[in-house]
Amino acid sequence: MAEETIFSKIIRQEIPTPLLYQDDLVTAFSDIAPKAKVHILIVPNELIATANDIEAEHEQVIGRMYTVAKRLAKEQGIDQSGYRLIMNCNDHGGQEVYHIHLHLLGGEPLGPLLAK
Ligand code: 5GP
Repeated sequence: MAEETIFSKIIRQEIPTPLLYQDDLVTAFSDIAPKAKVHILIVPNELIATANDIEAEHEQVIGRMYTVAKRLAKEQGIDQSGYRLIMNCNDHGGQEVYHIHLHLLGGEPLGPLLAK
């Protein structure tokens, strides 16, 4: 059983954080340390620790994360200029919070995918 992170407390609003979206499956809020003009995290309400823990039973929630990402991109006015959706996994992926999340990044040119 994975340990809860701060994201579960945000989802339950035990740590008050303005929510940009919430439904029965997912919650979205702005990243506390934005890496682009728009930087939103889309998080499943249920704790799934890493991309390695995604199972067939999660297909609905994973799909919802993307439809909510698309909706938020439109609301933020970045759907036409473009954006990037990223999910980091484990150490080499740079994952810091072990509750999966989609980063929605945009509002400015983001440059190459990897800085090498
Ligand atoms: P990861 O590196 O796991 O893909 O991304 C974790 C993200 O969560 C980081 O971009 C970090 O800034 C963000 N983050 C960490 N703690 C908090 C928090 O308490 N509130 C919010 N809104 N974002 C957080």
